[in-house]
Amino acid sequence: MSEAPIDLSALLAEAAARGARYLEGLDGRRVFPDEAARAGLADLMAPLADDPADPEEILALLDRVGSPATVASTGGRYFGFVTGGTLPAALAANMLATAWDQNAAFEVMSPAAAAIETAAAAMVLDVLGLPAEAAVGFGSGATMANFTGLAAARHALLTNAGWDVEEQGLFGAPPIEVVVGGEVHASLLKALQLLGLGRSRVVRVAVDGQGRICADMLPPLSATTILCLQAGNVNTGALDPFASVVPLAKAAGAWVHVDGAFGLWMLASPKLRALADGVEAADSWAVDGHKWLNVPYDSGLAIVRDPAALRAAMAASAAYLVDGGPRDGANYVPELSRRARGIDIWAALRSLGRRGTADLVERGVSLAGRFAARLRAEGCDILNEVVGNQVLVSFGEAEHTRRVIAAIQRDGTCWCGGTVWQGRTAMRISVSSWATTEADIDRSAAAVVRLARATN
Ligand SMILES: *Cc1c(COP(=O)(O)O)cnc(C)c1O
Repeated sequence: MSEAPIDLSALLAEAAARGARYLEGLDGRRVFPDEAARAGLADLMAPLADDPADPEEILALLDRVGSPATVASTGGRYFGFVTGGTLPAALAANMLATAWDQNAAFEVMSPAAAAIETAAAAMVLDVLGLPAEAAVGFGSGATMANFTGLAAARHALLTNAGWDVEEQGLFGAPPIEVVVGGEVHASLLKALQLLGLGRSRVVRVAVDGQGRICADMLPPLSATTILCLQAGNVNTGALDPFASVVPLAKAAGAWVHVDGAFGLWMLASPKLRALADGVEAADSWAVDGHKWLNVPYDSGLAIVRDPAALRAAMAASAAYLVDGGPRDGANYVPELSRRARGIDIWAALRSLGRRGTADLVERGVSLAGRFAARLRAEGCDILNEVVGNQVLVSFGEAEHTRRVIAAIQRDGTCWCGGTVWQGRTAMRISVSSWATTEADIDRSAAAVVRLARATN
């Protein structure tokens, strides 16, 4: 350590001030950093020094070199992937919670983290209208939330088949069939891969032009089937027809898991909720905090109707692990030690309330509709029904569409990525940030149209 005592108040105030300046400057800068800013990152690559350095100088270097090289994805004109910004209340709570540095593995390690996550879990179930008895685990994102929900499914189905998968593993176990839609998200396949259920041994069900599973194409389902449905296709935003599929699956004794990374938040809106009608009858759900709820990275929620199945799948046992607290976080997610991610979610939902959460989601949908309408009016081809916050745009031939996307990414007014949707090359627009305004949409749409016209 250096000789002089560290002035902690000054240091943290400096970090907060630099953070605020960064956020206030986002509107005036390129969304994707230019080459000079990216080249500047070399200044952070110095090898390990022999001697300690001053924290304020480290912070200043990080801000001077790092800030200009960041992608302004927390601003209002980033439409890539499905990327939320950060609500002010969630950001501030996250900063305080970082100072707390609580370990949310066990209640005895942090009664505060356990209590706040208990409260956050109840608010999440309430605002989504999911069963109040369900268990909620706070993990790193929808990939691990899918993993967690599917681990509970694996436990429940194999227990019913007389097999203890947690003790015995999968070698020699009765087979489980996994049924997915043809447009299953890559992260769900990754979760199956990690669980020993295999990416390729799934049965893929045909989907319609929006990527929704075709209910009449389902294979026979049984008490050894995990049926994976989707609320929010990553390209079209479409939701599976839960009301016609979930009751069939439940009647057959199957486990229904829903990947609702962003789309599940549509349940928070009384106006949009009907699109997900029937989803509440599933057994497990995965949803992100860091996408549409707009809490800082990283954050995802695994929700499981039967808390005992989740606990059995996630519980670790070791003599020093104190059991029986009202909420030991380690029994809900794969991690033992972890940050108390539920605090950000608690703060976000406290600040939004029921109405604000509905408004956040409705605004995303309405702004996506506005973007689509602007582009359609200028002759662009919109490939999807814009029911949610996703828009797929074609500028004609695949190669031309790719060149337009590249031009948009170079221009820096906004950022959109590319995809191939059912054989057609397209640009993806995802409106997922609380910070996006109508002016952001109009400015971005104007840039897209200008660049599409200028590209040949
Ligand atoms: C983003 C996404 C995921 C993966 O979520 P992460 O938070 O990145 O792990 C899974 N499914 C869908 C539909 C998604 O959009």
